[in-house]
Amino acid sequence: MNKFNVAYIKLLTKIEGPFDRCCIWFQGCNLNCKGCGNPSLQPLVPKHLLTEEQLLDIIYEAKKKYGIEGVTLTGGEPSLQSGLKSLNKRIHEAGLGIILFSGKTIDALDKDLVNSVDLLIDGPFIESQLDKERLLLGSKNKVLHFITDRYLKQESYFNSSISKEEVVAEDYIFINGD
Ligand code: SF4
Repeated sequence: MNKFNVAYIKLLTKIEGPFDRCCIWFQGCNLNCKGCGNPSLQPLVPKHLLTEEQLLDIIYEAKKKYGIEGVTLTGGEPSLQSGLKSLNKRIHEAGLGIILFSGKTIDALDKDLVNSVDLLIDGPFIESQLDKERLLLGSKNKVLHFITDRYLKQESYFNSSISKEEVVAEDYIFINGD
């Protein structure tokens, strides 16, 4: 069975997309963007190897404990995780939304993977196109692709400037790797 290579997880965050979310940072990225904000997540080395069931149990816990609206998948490059489509199907079955950050452009991604999320934010980080206006996106080339209408009304979230004081992140989860 394929396992997911997870760097770390936050059960509840208010700063990785609209609404309260669980955020999963996957380990490994081969895109080598100059100025990458998460260089420690680039090495393609095993960190915490979790089965789909183990990852889902963590997500279910976040839903039960915090009533999260959805899950943010980031990294690293999440599309390197071969089980992602199946995971996303199960996340949707739990009634949760999915935001996927990918350094690849939509055309370079598997179509079924794209169709397994609600919002895809795509494209590499381009240092010369630094985006200081939009939250979370990093560079101006990044595009919000609303795959479903779940987050259509939240587009303004990414154009807003949330002050540091309003941002609260609670409950980190530390995983013992196997
Ligand atoms: S895609 Fe993201 S994680 Fe990968 S090198 Fe670029 S900025 Fe870093």
